[in-house]
Amino acid sequence: MPTSNTISGWGNFPKAKSNLYNFRIENDLLLSYSDDYLIPRGLGRSYGDQAINLNQGVLLTQNLNRLLDFDEETGILTCEAGVSLAEIIHIFSPRGWFPMIAPGTKYVTVGGAIANDIHGKGHHIDGSFVSCVTEFTVLLADGSVVTASRSENPDLFWSSFGGLGLLGIILSASIRLRKIETTFFSHQSVRVNSLDHLLDSIDEFDKEYNYSVAWVDSLARGSKLGKGVLTLGNHASKTDLATDFSHNPLKVSEPPKFAVPFELPAATLNKVSVKILNTFLELLQSRSKSVAHYEEFFFPLDKVSNWNRGYGKKGFIQYQFVVPLENGRKNIRSLLQEIVNSDQTPFLNVLKKFGKGEEKCPLSFPFEGYTFAIDFPVRKGLNLLTKKLDELVVDYGGRIYLGKDAMLDSNTFRQMYPKYHTWLEAKRKYDPANLFSSNLSRRLKIDYCSSNS
Ligand SMILES: Cc1cc2nc3c(=O)[nH]c(=O)nc-3n(C[C@H](O)[C@H](O)[C@H](O)COP(=O)(O)OP(=O)(O)OC[C@H]3O[C@@H](n4cnc5c(N)ncnc54)[C@H](O)[C@@H]3O)c2cc1C
Repeated sequence: MPTSNTISGWGNFPKAKSNLYNFRIENDLLLSYSDDYLIPRGLGRSYGDQAINLNQGVLLTQNLNRLLDFDEETGILTCEAGVSLAEIIHIFSPRGWFPMIAPGTKYVTVGGAIANDIHGKGHHIDGSFVSCVTEFTVLLADGSVVTASRSENPDLFWSSFGGLGLLGIILSASIRLRKIETTFFSHQSVRVNSLDHLLDSIDEFDKEYNYSVAWVDSLARGSKLGKGVLTLGNHASKTDLATDFSHNPLKVSEPPKFAVPFELPAATLNKVSVKILNTFLELLQSRSKSVAHYEEFFFPLDKVSNWNRGYGKKGFIQYQFVVPLENGRKNIRSLLQEIVNSDQTPFLNVLKKFGKGEEKCPLSFPFEGYTFAIDFPVRKGLNLLTKKLDELVVDYGGRIYLGKDAMLDSNTFRQMYPKYHTWLEAKRKYDPANLFSSNLSRRLKIDYCSSNS
């Protein structure tokens, strides 16, 4: 029997009362979940309504937690889809292996990583998650389990990256890990005083560094627009480590020590507190050590559990877009201007230059261009700002990341993702009765039944 509970994504916006089922492979192959429509859910780190289902079923995949095989020669790990990157790091880093692609938090499952085709700081070199997956198994709506790879059911394979859990339940996957000498990163920070300076620095340094990401002062305007800090890094070798780290080059971290205990009052966030935070972040990033552990380099936000509660009861959204390189400087300037001139309170953000995207995945987000992600607490008028930004992003030939979205409308979605029709063919073939659906799929009308095209 399901339990009925109100759940949300990481942004705590929107919320939906959903029927929660603990999914188990052995008992549940026939998907006998009453008459509910269903959506799988990993660790709920998507920001919006991807893994919630108003008055319908949500399949919690925490029981899909077994490691199935590891090949030391190739670095290919086969595991169930509810295994998280945090668990993979914890078990495999001491043996000299690390995920090929890691987002800004390690608390994501392999199934969630595939369903959003996640990207990390190394996208310009390593691509998105699809590039490290060799195959996976999926439980389809008709109860059958099929394998998807580049050669077997390739349409299911490509469409599942960015497929938002809407084609079936990924049960297990084989992913390639990276051989490492240490769990540390050699890194450099470059302070930049304008957008041109930032984008020039990215062009200058991206070839030398596997990982690159910038933080932008969200309150800087005029000639200072785009001022911030670019952080660059590579996996450190043993010889890069100073003596204080060299006794334990493959150190793994402990669980977080700090937590935000409850939702803070929304008034805590205003332009003054953002200014203080921005000054602090600038100092922190520009002074950081030249060698840092993966926790500091990749996952600084994981140090505080439930930091999302800091945005208050109404929650927050993260708006992430990518625009092509052509006219990229002009267009990203115009989008940043729109954000800093708005009456909303922009908060944590990152800017990055993506490398080439995987064109075979119809709903994958990244393509070659500039991407910018920024948090906004949910306040009156926020939807007007996102609407304006959506229009500009479409005009500039860009798109927003569905894994973080909570506000896009269905028409704009179709303009942003013109290969949607290819994806819909896979949906028709593998889930013709639309068993797998979510709040997001209904909002964006990305399913067979509500598609009018
Ligand atoms: C602090 C923070 C930083 C982040 N940084 C980045 C970043 O740098 N880059 C990036 O790309 N993303 C980033 N994200 C977003 C995050 O990586 C993705 O949303 C990821 O998909 C979340 O995984 P999850 O296991 O929590 O999945 P959930 O959020 O629970 O679900 C995400 C989607 O996956 C589907 N899904 C889950 N399990 C399965 C399964 N077994 N089979 C089929 N579908 C499934 C769900 O239906 C849903 O559509 C960040 C999130 C946070 C909170």
